[in-house]
Amino acid sequence: MNNDVAKKSRKSRRPSIDARPTVLADIPADPEPTDEDLERISVKMGIKKVDTDPLNTRRNTLLYFWKDDLQKKLPDLFHVEFVDFIDIFPEGIINYQHYLDSNLWAEIWNDCLTRANHRCAGCGRKATQVHHRDYRPRVLRGEDRSPLVVLCRSCHSKVHAVRTKDSKSWEDCERELARMVNEYNAAIIASQLAKDNEDKKRPWRRTRAPGPVMSVTDKV
Ligand SMILES: [Zn+2]
Ligand SMILES: [Zn+2]
Repeated sequence: MNNDVAKKSRKSRRPSIDARPTVLADIPADPEPTDEDLERISVKMGIKKVDTDPLNTRRNTLLYFWKDDLQKKLPDLFHVEFVDFIDIFPEGIINYQHYLDSNLWAEIWNDCLTRANHRCAGCGRKATQVHHRDYRPRVLRGEDRSPLVVLCRSCHSKVHAVRTKDSKSWEDCERELARMVNEYNAAIIASQLAKDNEDKKRPWRRTRAPGPVMSVTDKV
């Protein structure tokens, strides 16, 4: 990379004056069963007590059935890390690629990008993609857009590359996303502070003060 290119790419990473830090919404914690809940499931499914169970197999089986039972009644109760198939349309189950081709997704995608001013939450460049931090049905239906984050292609692939390379956990994707968003937020704040200091020195050149910190998306 020659000096000109290096200067140019550094310049393009500098946040513009109207850039806003992104707040990543909290993902609600999953509910935990009580012992009575597990006992009820064990009776319902006929899963007997065992004398020795060093790997906690029985408890894990009960946990699985307890979650499955509850999720059928309340599909939005648990966090969904990834999906291959989607069951929110009256026409029946579709695969994820068909969902991405749907008019519903086009509307959600467009709305998220517009609200974020088409600015990548990880670097401030032009955003063209929307990342899911949660796939529970209400998010897929567009009723809760708070776990959706707009990103440029490069930042989005960085978030998911973690998944395909070393390990496959949702936590790794989250860590990478938080790292880039925090880094860019810090750059925005530093540039706003520098601008404030400039304005103090030359009050006659003062422009509009930055507004409050905004989340990219809100719950609908
Ligand atoms: Zn980016
Ligand atoms: Zn994504």
